[in-house]
Amino acid sequence: MTTTQTMSFQAEVSRLLDIVAHSLYSEREVFLRELIANAADACDKLRYLALTTPSLRGENAPFAVDVILNADQRQITVADNGIGMTRQELIDHLGTIARSGTGAFVESMTNSGTNQGDRPSLIGQFGVGFYASFMVARQVTVISRKAGEEDAWQWQSDGKGEFTVTATTRASHGTDITLDLREDADEYLEPQRIDYIVRLYSDHIALPVYIWGKDAGRGDEAANKASALWTRPKSEITETEYQEFYRYSAHAWDDPWAVMHWHAEGMIEYDALLYIPTTRPQDLFDPARREKIRLYVKRVFITDQSDGLIPAFLRFVRGVIDSADLPLNISREMLQQNPLVKKIRQGVTRKVLAELQRRASDNAEDYEKFWRCFGVVLKEGLYEDNDHRNDLLKLSRFYSTKSQGLVSLDEYMARVRPGQNHIFYMTGTDLDMLRRSPQIEGFIARDVEVLLLTDPIDEFWVPMVIQHEDKAFKSVTRAGVDLQAIEPETPKSTEEHSATTEQADNNIDSLIGRLKTALGDMVKDVRRSARLTDSPVCLVADDGDLDINMVRLLRANKQMDKNIPRVLEINPDHIVIRALANDTNPNDDMEFGDIAQLLLDQARIMDGEPLPDPSAFSRRLAGLMGRILAIAA
Ligand code: ADP
Ligand code: MG
Repeated sequence: MTTTQTMSFQAEVSRLLDIVAHSLYSEREVFLRELIANAADACDKLRYLALTTPSLRGENAPFAVDVILNADQRQITVADNGIGMTRQELIDHLGTIARSGTGAFVESMTNSGTNQGDRPSLIGQFGVGFYASFMVARQVTVISRKAGEEDAWQWQSDGKGEFTVTATTRASHGTDITLDLREDADEYLEPQRIDYIVRLYSDHIALPVYIWGKDAGRGDEAANKASALWTRPKSEITETEYQEFYRYSAHAWDDPWAVMHWHAEGMIEYDALLYIPTTRPQDLFDPARREKIRLYVKRVFITDQSDGLIPAFLRFVRGVIDSADLPLNISREMLQQNPLVKKIRQGVTRKVLAELQRRASDNAEDYEKFWRCFGVVLKEGLYEDNDHRNDLLKLSRFYSTKSQGLVSLDEYMARVRPGQNHIFYMTGTDLDMLRRSPQIEGFIARDVEVLLLTDPIDEFWVPMVIQHEDKAFKSVTRAGVDLQAIEPETPKSTEEHSATTEQADNNIDSLIGRLKTALGDMVKDVRRSARLTDSPVCLVADDGDLDINMVRLLRANKQMDKNIPRVLEINPDHIVIRALANDTNPNDDMEFGDIAQLLLDQARIMDGEPLPDPSAFSRRLAGLMGRILAIAA
């Protein structure tokens, strides 16, 4: 029974195909790279499954990719003897977009109003996979037979919204993809041109690619090197080869920021070819925090969803690890428990951190690029990895009150002031707001550097790290900061601190008492502040209480609903506070209550806190302004 069924592409695929078909392309040759990569993946998958079920590999022919050129029919075919696809897989894999990267590509093309001229290079960069075929083909025909099954299926489409699926036959497992070339795509019928493209993009594929056709070598010699790139000596590998292999193995479209290629010997032997991307992979912040290293055992592909080869805080690292010491029949599930895998993880972690350290000392500016992409992920290690915490601290970069760029802890330590026993920091979400916080005024006045931490994770790693060298981390929004112990840059003149000082101190003490009474349980306490210079008041967390930004985070995530009362600190040198303290007629309780409330609300506003009662705030402020204007009139 040969019935043909017609189906529609998923809407995103139609959009993608539209973009592909209407682009002016300069790099459309990448279609071949994509088809060969898919063929190689298909062979890798079958090789792995055949380890446990050898019967899947029918005739047992060596794995290979054939590129067949038929000038008379104006067709090019890419054929493999890999795992093949069932009818349903043809529909799912070639009719929908599963890969997040491609989805993102379509998004960016549709939304950004990217102009037509930019599209071809974008396609080259993104690698739209199988669908790239439609850049050169008016019709694509896929014939596939899944290993272990008798039935074969044909998928066919002109890329205009629909495809058909028909039952067919195929001698053995594998997939043939035949392109009916467009009028303007003659070049892909020339063996030399194809040979060049295969060498350019697919030299690193660990599988022979044979070119067949009238003037081709008739497949007697592979067009590519066909040896696993990671097993070749470094000196023989070009930068382009490293880059192409990165794009292939990581399904990426950027250039690698770092390439690490080494052979480890000793307790365990393995080859590693690892990359750090330049841009964030799409799935970087998936809650599953999956690693994406391709694991091979004796050149046999095992998995690209490895588990335990690298710590979660390095999950952005891509590439290949190949070990002859692991058992070939290792299952993905068993990976994590395997002691040899643990050894590999230790070696790999050490190597990657050392490379980062080297790059950080070599070129700070370049390292900042890395840090802005992946620093927030490395910080997860500060939180959860005792063994590497110190290395990670050295690699960490922070915003600070003393720099517009990023600073390291080494730089911070070199600037510590005499008498300063802490590494001061402030957490929040908005860098500009942090820079203007009243809580750091006194630190700036004393020339004490404060680190400004803006990632949510900062709230969690700091309590785990506790200290660096001999200095404990201390939040500036906490009570009990010993600013007085730190020598001021220019010591305050002591002249005025004479007989009147004692009187002034007493007045401040009584003002504190009156504020406490007026504010009641809206504040935990009212205290004299050493950290303020320009602002009259600020809020701090009492020692032992949750820090202010932490409470904000918990509330935003609905993990906390109550408010923790804060300590209100007042600036005894501020004109408003002095005037209040020296008020000789403190009897107008109504007015004082309003002023106390206004001071508290002002502190909340400076912290970016919503006011509990904005209309009361506005009424009080208007009342106060009215009185001032009445006096002036
Ligand atoms: P990707 O390779 O990134 O997954 P593609 O668009 O290149 O995206 O391919 C989509 C899917 O189609 C592949 O993931 C694979 O499941 C399937 N596929 C494509 N070509 C082949 C092939 N030659 N053999 C088996 N499966 C294939
Ligand atoms: Mg692909």
